[in-house]
Amino acid sequence: MIKYNLFCKNCSENFDSWFANSKEYEKLKKSKYLNCPICNSNKIEKSLMAPSIINNKIEKNKLNTKKHIEIKNKLKEYKKFIKNNFEYVGENFAHEARSIHYKTKKKEKGIYGKASIDEVNELLEEGIETEVVPWINDKEN
Ligand SMILES: [Zn+2]
Repeated sequence: MIKYNLFCKNCSENFDSWFANSKEYEKLKKSKYLNCPICNSNKIEKSLMAPSIINNKIEKNKLNTKKHIEIKNKLKEYKKFIKNNFEYVGENFAHEARSIHYKTKKKEKGIYGKASIDEVNELLEEGIETEVVPWINDKEN
């Protein structure tokens, strides 16, 4: 069994739900059997858990190991590479990606920007190759 913290895009309610496995979650979501307990909307997505790692001070120190710093530096390089070779489209990512895919817009460079997990999944379903990249802020050491 796996517990997911879910988020309703319609009324912003957060709630927990149990699933046999991640595939069951995907299946229920696809067939629109996932509903918000408050407003009954099926615009449900998984909440991102990542920030909770950073909020814990002890865990943060543990994470500041050499390996952690090494990976962070790699991510910084990766980020620099993307910045130099791709065009930033911000929150418009899903829209821009579709424009390019369906050839309504021509762009020489690839694009990068912000998208929710749901948006990325939708793009993938439409056959638009989308990659989720780990992103870190420049201010972070
Ligand atoms: Zn709701």
